[in-house]
Formats: sequence, structure tokens, C-alpha cells
Amino acid sequence: MSGRLNLVVLGKQGAGKGTQCKRLVEEYAIPHVSTGDILRAAVKAGTPLGLEVAGVMNAGALVSDELVIRLVDERFKEADAQRGALLDGFPRTLAQAEALEALLGDDGIKLCINLEVPIDLVTARLSSRRVCQECGAIYKDTDIEAISGTCANCGGDVIQRVDDQPDAIRKRLETYERDTAPLLSFYESRGLLVTVDGDQSPDDVTKAIKAVVHEKGLA
Ligand code: ADP
Ligand code: ZN
Repeated sequence: MSGRLNLVVLGKQGAGKGTQCKRLVEEYAIPHVSTGDILRAAVKAGTPLGLEVAGVMNAGALVSDELVIRLVDERFKEADAQRGALLDGFPRTLAQAEALEALLGDDGIKLCINLEVPIDLVTARLSSRRVCQECGAIYKDTDIEAISGTCANCGGDVIQRVDDQPDAIRKRLETYERDTAPLLSFYESRGLLVTVDGDQSPDDVTKAIKAVVHEKGLA
């Protein structure tokens, strides 16, 4: 067994993957690798990659496997990823999961944490979600930061993601069921899947995840 702690966090959009990963980064000293964040940064910066993917992302569809696999491959080469990574939003198709196994080789995925949240709850969470464009902090539409449009952390603009509007939410959740839900049995069959109830306070979800990681002797 190697020392790298590679954890996959799976779950529907709005299950709380990003929120939990931000907390776990501090706990385990491994980077949060979110393909959604990497792609959004490219869109915001107007890079060729960003221009290529903006339309697909705004519509709530998936960008190509080939493209995200390349991004993750590049990200794994950076110094901070040598101890492992918290993977959020990747893999989300079987082809990506297989490519990830090939990339990591024996030094593979140690655990896949499935954050389970009912569909009506994630729909409500996504429609009321607001995010800071600069630092990614997450707010609710009723928070003062969302109402004033200014992030308490960094002073950045707090906005609603284009893909957090009703049509795109519906599309993303359908895509999850069709393309990503099959990964649950993929990781289950490898004995790597644990399910954590995501319908609890963020603190309780973090506690539950840490307990599982500890139980498995991973940290
Ligand atoms: P969410 O999963 O909550 O919709 P993310 O921030 O994880 O949000 O991803 C935003 C968008 O970025 C996705 O809807 C998709 O267009 C694109 N994306 C992110 N990760 C992947 C991936 N692994 N494969 C394909 N597309 C992705
Ligand atoms: Zn901010």
C-alpha cells in the first residue's frame, strides 16, 4: 500500500461535495481537485479552453472525457498532488473512471465517498445557491452576501451560476443519473464505496466522512 491518499467524492450536483472537500483539504493536507472549478476558472479567464467549454457548461452538459482526462493528468503532475488528492466532480463517466485507474496505476483510489442526498433536496439547494466568483465561497440566496452581492471572505462578486437555473439543473441531474450513477456499482465492485448521508449539517457530514476514512485506516 502506498502513501498517497486519493479519495473520490461522488454525489449529485448540490450534494455538498465542494463544501466537504474544502474542509477535508485542511484535515488531510491534500489538494482539492475539482474539474468544475478548473473549467470555470478557464472560462472566467477567457482562455482557449474556456472558450471551447463555456457553452457546454452553461447548458449543464458534460465536456468531453478526453478533455477532462487531460486536465486531471496535468493536475496530477503538480507538486502538491504527489501526496494524493480529493477528487470532486471527476470521474463522472465510466470512461473517466477507467482512465483514472490507468493514470494512477497501483497507486490508485483508496476510497470513494458517496454523498447521498434526495433529489428534491439537491434541487432546492441548487436553486438557492449563490457563489463568489473570486474565491468560490458558497452562500444561500437569503444570506446577506448574496443580497448585497459581495463576498465576506474576499470582497468578490457573489452571483448565481448560469447552470444553477432551472433548465440546466434538470439537465445536470438527468446527466448524473445516466452517466455518473453507474460509477457507484463500479466502485462498489472494487470494494471501495462507502455511502455517507449528505442530508445532515455540514459539520455532521464532515464528521461522518472523517470517521469512515479513519475506520479504513487511511488517515
Ligand atoms: P456540478 O457537478 O455541480 O454541475 P461542477 O462544478 O462539478 O458542477 O461542474 C460544472 C460543469 O463542468 C459540469 O456541468 C460540466 O459541464 C463540466 N464538468 C466538470 N467536471 C466534469 C467531468 N469530470 N466531465 C465532464 N464535464 C465536467
Ligand atoms: Zn470570495
